[in-house]
Amino acid sequence: GHLINQIAAGEVVERPASVAKELVENSLDAGAQSIVIDIMAGGSKLLRVRDDGCGIPQDELALALSRHATSKITSLEDLEAVASLGFRGEALPSIGSVARLTLTSRTADAETAWSVSADNGRLSEPKPAAHPLGTTIEVEDLFYNTPARRKFLRTERTEFAHIDKWIRRLALARPDVAFTVSHNRRTVLSLPAAHSEEDELQRIGKIVGDSFASQAVFLSREADGIAIRGWLGLPTFNRSQPDLQHWFINGRSIGDKTLSHAARHAYRDVLFHGRYPAYVLYLSMDPASIDANAHPAKHEVRFRDGRRVHGIVSQSLEQVLAGTRP
Ligand code: ADP
Ligand code: MG
Repeated sequence: GHLINQIAAGEVVERPASVAKELVENSLDAGAQSIVIDIMAGGSKLLRVRDDGCGIPQDELALALSRHATSKITSLEDLEAVASLGFRGEALPSIGSVARLTLTSRTADAETAWSVSADNGRLSEPKPAAHPLGTTIEVEDLFYNTPARRKFLRTERTEFAHIDKWIRRLALARPDVAFTVSHNRRTVLSLPAAHSEEDELQRIGKIVGDSFASQAVFLSREADGIAIRGWLGLPTFNRSQPDLQHWFINGRSIGDKTLSHAARHAYRDVLFHGRYPAYVLYLSMDPASIDANAHPAKHEVRFRDGRRVHGIVSQSLEQVLAGTRP
């Protein structure tokens, strides 16, 4: 158990940012509408994620911390159509094997919340606790029992920057969920849920910068079962790096060559050579037309029909860009 979890942690938990990503993804999978993330010392001292999601029943708390126990798929067919961000049941046991982890949760029909903790692979008995509907996971002293790994942590600032990048990406993916982030007790990001296109653009401004939001043009098209919406940076808002190119498919952040090529193609006549367009784009399509599990990090997809996706995306962008020409 413990050693296997620590070995698995080598893959799942590279640094505090990986912990933050896994915990926030779990909160999103639990249907949270609001997520509060508190970080101390770049996440190596404390990473705490609190949500108002569905919670974990008392009798499943220990299971949530044991290997390959996922509540998210029960059959092979589920695996085909998996919509949740996690489904391997590896994150919590891995994190619990390389940090002190406390899990406190309450479900809607429970009379009280319950809390369990994992310390050096040992699980405590569940104890009653005070907590509203939802879950708080507290991860303290990351890598305290694996000094060789702890040595690889960078400065507080660098580790925080990695966490921040992931949280922003997850927050961009889910404009309908409120996010609050503090580092060393200072609020560093506060994003209310967006209920309109205007809210959403304002929120995007807080996440990627107002200079993008103040000039971006809205795009919304649907063709052949693929809906694409989002914001395109004007050709004059070009970048020297491809650092403001965000794709999301069905609520999940994606990096994909087909998509970035389609965008580059659409901008080909309006950008100078060597410059990069900026955009935040959301695609929705039938999950059966993509294989999101092609890569374990799940940041990559494989389209069943990449040419069709390429065509629809580049045409949609081209039409909007053509409308912005002076
Ligand atoms: P996975 O996400 O791959 O299922 P994890 O190790 O990340 O595996 O989590 C294990 C299980 O713990 C999840 O399947 C889920 O049932 C439960 N869980 C974890 N975090 C939360 C949360 N914030 N709210 C509700 N349930 C959670
Ligand atoms: Mg998970």
